[in-house]
Amino acid sequence: MPAQSDRTQVGIIGAGPAGLLLSHLLHLQGIDSVIVERRSRDAIEATIRAGVPEQGTVDTMIAAGVGDRLQREGAIHHGFDLRFGGQSHRIDLTALTGRSITVYPQHEVLKDLIAARLADEGQIIFEATDVSVHDVTADQPHIHYTAPDGITHDLACDLLIGADGSHGVCRAAIPETLRKDYFRIYPFGWFGILCEAPLSHHELIYARSPTGFALISTRSPGVQRMYFQCDPAEDATTWSDDRIWERLQANVAGEDGFRLKEGKIFQKGVIPMRSFACEPMQHGRLFLAGDAAHSVPPTGAKGLNLAANDVVILARAIEEFFHHNDNTHLETYTATALKRVWRVQHFSWLMTSMMHNLPDENEFDTKRQLAELELLTSSPTASQTLAEIYVGAPLGT
Ligand SMILES: Cc1cc2nc3c(=O)[nH]c(=O)nc-3n(C[C@H](O)[C@H](O)[C@H](O)COP(=O)(O)OP(=O)(O)OC[C@H]3O[C@@H](n4cnc5c(N)ncnc54)[C@H](O)[C@@H]3O)c2cc1C
Repeated sequence: MPAQSDRTQVGIIGAGPAGLLLSHLLHLQGIDSVIVERRSRDAIEATIRAGVPEQGTVDTMIAAGVGDRLQREGAIHHGFDLRFGGQSHRIDLTALTGRSITVYPQHEVLKDLIAARLADEGQIIFEATDVSVHDVTADQPHIHYTAPDGITHDLACDLLIGADGSHGVCRAAIPETLRKDYFRIYPFGWFGILCEAPLSHHELIYARSPTGFALISTRSPGVQRMYFQCDPAEDATTWSDDRIWERLQANVAGEDGFRLKEGKIFQKGVIPMRSFACEPMQHGRLFLAGDAAHSVPPTGAKGLNLAANDVVILARAIEEFFHHNDNTHLETYTATALKRVWRVQHFSWLMTSMMHNLPDENEFDTKRQLAELELLTSSPTASQTLAEIYVGAPLGT
């Protein structure tokens, strides 16, 4: 038996964007929570992942009082380029939707949320081990874990949130007989680099070329994030800087003579590409949020935003549960959250399948992809639909 018994209203597993944002939103409503996280604060704050919060995510952060640095340091982008056939075609997000996106790395969002939780004396147990969940269908579920000092804990709570990402323990607490998992594994990965170089372009570029996909993104005026399509089993360490630049330049090349500004590469790695969703997202008093319930390929820049959307829906439902003794919206959480999950799954799949070269691709596939891109960039209605989904609807819908 665990040595120490603790209690909170909401037990949260995982200090990623989902867990931290939820804990902060609950605190604003006067609801206690404890986050149990297996990694260290340093490791969380140093992990480079997503970088494009939608306007709804930015608005939520600002309204929750954790958006000061994001507003100061984030770069607002009013459009992005779709590049194919050797030419760039700008999607003017602001003209088409009245909204924009912000480039602000996920680990900076996490730094802001961790700082806010700790300033408000919120409890985050970093470096917890042997984390497990119990009694999720009872009135009082439990989290067991071992703290870094070696003491084992039994944390009882009213509600349990699985915000523990793709490889956490919570999803498995929904029995396989009640759960359906939907998967799509893509036959390519993304080779990602971080480099010290000036901006190659003032907005993001999504490029499709005969040599494959590339995304030209940014972290700051002096640090750039770029990706190109690769074999998912590729070993990044075997690629020299020259070879990486050669591939990236080939994937953006065109008759307009566009070239990337090169610089010192200081990080490289390969990301697998997959789509995943599980249903339901609730079992008893356990609620899954973010990557614990779904993940999308990064082509649509949606993973972080989808996690934030789950959490906004949950925060409202939890507030009603504790303050109004009403569990209606907790009971409808799966149905509400899944609407956006599947909209975003479709969009991320569309962007991925339209922009990448498929291993068994024939000329018909290439022509079809180019026709799709042509439609999206030449028809105002099609451009508007793309822009609306890219900037995202307000969160909580
Ligand atoms: C390499 C990479 C690149 C990405 N790039 C993009 C991108 O460009 N655009 C985009 O939109 N999305 C991107 N994503 C996806 C995006 O980062 C995720 O969708 C987002 O992090 C989801 O947040 P989350 O809080 O649900 O999960 P996570 O961020 O995964 O957080 C889960 C947390 O739970 C913790 N945890 C796991 N298991 C346990 C356990 N047993 N006990 C305690 N704690 C546990 C983990 O340590 C982690 O801190 C990327 C993801 C990866 C992996």
